[in-house]
Amino acid sequence: MGRMTLGPEDRTAAEALDARDPLAFARGRFSVPEGVVYLDGNSLGALPSGVRAAVLDAVDRQWGQDLIGSWNGNGWWTLPERVGDRIGALVGAAPGQTICGDSTSVQLFQALTAAARLRPDRRVLLTDAANFPTDQYLADAVARLLGLEARRVDPAALEVGPDVAVVALSAVDYRTGELWDVEEITRKAHAAGAVVVWDLCHAAGALPVDLDGLGADAAVGCTYKYLNGGPGAPAWLYLPRRHQQAADLPLTGWTGRADPFGLAGAYEPAEGVARARIGTPPVLSMVAVEAALDVWDGVDLAAVRAKSLALGDLLITMADGLREYGLTVVTPRAGARRGSQVSLRHEKAYELGQALITRGVVGDFRAPDLLRLGLAPLYLRYVDVWDAMHALAGILAANEHEAPRYRRDQTAVVT
Ligand SMILES: *Cc1c(COP(=O)(O)O)cnc(C)c1O
Repeated sequence: MGRMTLGPEDRTAAEALDARDPLAFARGRFSVPEGVVYLDGNSLGALPSGVRAAVLDAVDRQWGQDLIGSWNGNGWWTLPERVGDRIGALVGAAPGQTICGDSTSVQLFQALTAAARLRPDRRVLLTDAANFPTDQYLADAVARLLGLEARRVDPAALEVGPDVAVVALSAVDYRTGELWDVEEITRKAHAAGAVVVWDLCHAAGALPVDLDGLGADAAVGCTYKYLNGGPGAPAWLYLPRRHQQAADLPLTGWTGRADPFGLAGAYEPAEGVARARIGTPPVLSMVAVEAALDVWDGVDLAAVRAKSLALGDLLITMADGLREYGLTVVTPRAGARRGSQVSLRHEKAYELGQALITRGVVGDFRAPDLLRLGLAPLYLRYVDVWDAMHALAGILAANEHEAPRYRRDQTAVVT
């Protein structure tokens, strides 16, 4: 791709990229509102077209008509394993190692505790000082519970001492979009005898991940970002086969028990990854996730990655053209160090985000000064990126974002 300036004639270059995009067909699998450039799929993925019918069927027919018979008759009971395996296929996990359910926060608690218990003679848990808050809080909570020390580190300068039990990091920095060297970090941690827990919230569905090949000891992720499972969709936990027998999971709910319907008084783990089940699965949400995963049929994750990087290249090139307005690119330029978002720094990032929304461009803001633009290659076109950056250029050139109505409201909720 050539360098793109901001002249209006360059939109045709973006159109040409769309015309030969091997993933162009995938946009038709989503309901993307007309006139909106959606750059927030890294926070809440767009709606896959098949979800509505699946949820309506689960409500009207399965629940409304079949009632309790649906636990078996409509496969409700096996949703966590079934959906888990389909998510696993997108993150390099062979079947029988991934379970869907609960929130990422809950799964982090499960994974971190079980991981630490695999190294009972060690007392340090390493996490990223810039990790998503819930990851840091849960690391602290697990450390407190098990009498460990949760230490913050910079993943770029990771050192793993002999006292480290667990290295728990996110593959992608949620603020800057930086992708860490997952292979090298895993190798380093293993060389020091530690176990590794990866948080793949910003990686699953955004780039190829090979959990089995990596030898990750556990992983977690949500399904509402690049997996498009919907608001509050249940998360997932990867527990590789080699650890399943020894894994001492803290949340021993009844559905993870061997013979759960025996209703025995004492817990005994089920065989395999089923032991990571906790309570009754959130059926309606999980039905939505299952239908949402259909958008991946026949999609090559290498093509997703290639398009994600090309969209990012276009965005970065156009952002560079706006340096004179105090806009800088925070995300690393090297493709190998980028997740699937580009973060831009500007002292009025919040106001810029609001002005962009007025122009139909939805990104998000991360305090204090980041404008985060997510690139979901299944439904995003090159012209969308071009239009978004062209809109940003127009806003900056006309100082639109300085209008009083865009001033930051103290009560604004930023999730
Ligand atoms: C999105 C995200 C979460 C979300 O956790 P929830 O329990 O679903 O609210 C956690 N960690 C990371 C790194 C995330 O990006």
